[in-house]
Amino acid sequence: MHSAYKKWILNSYDKINSDYVELDKLDQLVGDGDHGSTIYKGITVAKQLYLNKLTSPLDETMAIISKQMRIEMGGASGILMSIFFDESGKIDKSNLNSSIIDIFEKSIDKIMKIGKVKAGDKSILDIYIPVLNFLKKNSDFQFKKNEINEILSLSLAKTKEMEAQVGRAKFLENRGLGFIDPGAKSTEIILREYFESLL
Ligand SMILES: [Mg+2]
Repeated sequence: MHSAYKKWILNSYDKINSDYVELDKLDQLVGDGDHGSTIYKGITVAKQLYLNKLTSPLDETMAIISKQMRIEMGGASGILMSIFFDESGKIDKSNLNSSIIDIFEKSIDKIMKIGKVKAGDKSILDIYIPVLNFLKKNSDFQFKKNEINEILSLSLAKTKEMEAQVGRAKFLENRGLGFIDPGAKSTEIILREYFESLL
């Protein structure tokens, strides 16, 4: 699992590195304009730590990465986005499918509780939940990477039509309607790279 996770973190870093300026621009439209730079800080520290921690068990590695991402990123997005990284360390090679489902369920549960956010609020959850639903409905999901990628794209596009109930966008007159959610965008990138590396 270590090599797949290493690939995930390094590829996510590369993608965020090339996209974070665009993400900041998107966040200028609906937030305070720093989401790209914030996630870039987080994934940079994740990359550095991953390269240093290769000898630790995966769950320990990912717990450390999650904690440092949270500290590095700060704010609500740091807390909420680091959750998946921590949970992802609990993957079980001998129970791959059910452990991945478990990772998504626990992440969603924590994001809902800690972020006081629900489906349709225009947040990162609007990416996680459709993916989880797909995984639960498709016991052979490890052979359906293309479909998962499609779910990711569609779920991201749907946030455009949502009015924000959380985050800064909810204070805007149009509640961010017509724009995709920046956190959903970075989550889509990270989950796409996750399945790309894992499956
Ligand atoms: Mg911000």
